[in-house]
Amino acid sequence: MKKTINIDKIHEGLCTKHIGARIIFLHETSSTNDLAKELAFSGSPEGTVVLAEAQTNGRGRLGREWVSPRGGLYFSVILRPRLAASEAAKLVFAAGLAVVEALDELYCLRTETKWPNDVIVNGRKVCGILSEMNMRNGLMDFVVVGFGVNANFDIKKALPEPLWANATSLWTELGRKIELGALFKEVLERLEKLYNSFLKNGSSPVLREWKKHAAFFGEYVEVISGNEYLSGLALDIEDDGSLTIKLDDGKVKHVFAGDVSLRRKSNPMSFK
Ligand code: ATP
Repeated sequence: MKKTINIDKIHEGLCTKHIGARIIFLHETSSTNDLAKELAFSGSPEGTVVLAEAQTNGRGRLGREWVSPRGGLYFSVILRPRLAASEAAKLVFAAGLAVVEALDELYCLRTETKWPNDVIVNGRKVCGILSEMNMRNGLMDFVVVGFGVNANFDIKKALPEPLWANATSLWTELGRKIELGALFKEVLERLEKLYNSFLKNGSSPVLREWKKHAAFFGEYVEVISGNEYLSGLALDIEDDGSLTIKLDDGKVKHVFAGDVSLRRKSNPMSFK
């Protein structure tokens, strides 16, 4: 079967110093994040990337599935930032921004960021990001940042029906196939720039930029966390990465990403 990405071309043209210095390219793997974590545990350096044409057990947050058919772009990057866990958790914003910028640059596609880890087009998810970290003796050991982009497939053919309402693909949005290698390269290059800025200047500039693209601000949302359910007006993202919500009773609450799902409230009229 013809490869979906020409990896030799990527190696030749990639303008990064560290990220992508080593790329492990697989026809299929269970989860690029899982493999990248294994490699990170066994000492692989920062910038190592695991890229796969398909995932059989792609994961989202909270153990959810990320359906990953051939035609999508799936890769995970090992980072080893010397940051506190609370700061490193915000690298997910740098990753989201890298995708937003790449899609704008290559295809003039206007996307939005959805707190904390998705990129959406016309209200539908085109990319999910999964950031996982490991501490060793109280210090940051590694962060693995995984990307799943719905690219060269028709949602209705490649994804199960329950996902159709909230998912889209580049194919659907652009009406044509894209060159996966070009998108991969662009995201890696932008990620490296944003990561370097993050390490040098802290998370605020990245977060500020991310917020310029954020969906849902000023809108009614619902937040589901385990058994807890909140609804209110999404106001802002704070410097610590938390989402500020004005609840129905007027109280303001800061919600951390951890185990929370955010949805646009379908019927704002039900707010009191
Ligand atoms: P949500 O956006 O639904 O609140 P989340 O951001 O916590 O969830 P993620 O970890 O980003 O969830 O992604 C997992 C969820 O995304 C799955 O539960 C499923 O609903 C949806 N999903 C799975 N595969 C895809 C895909 N290829 N494209 C779009 N959405 C998907």
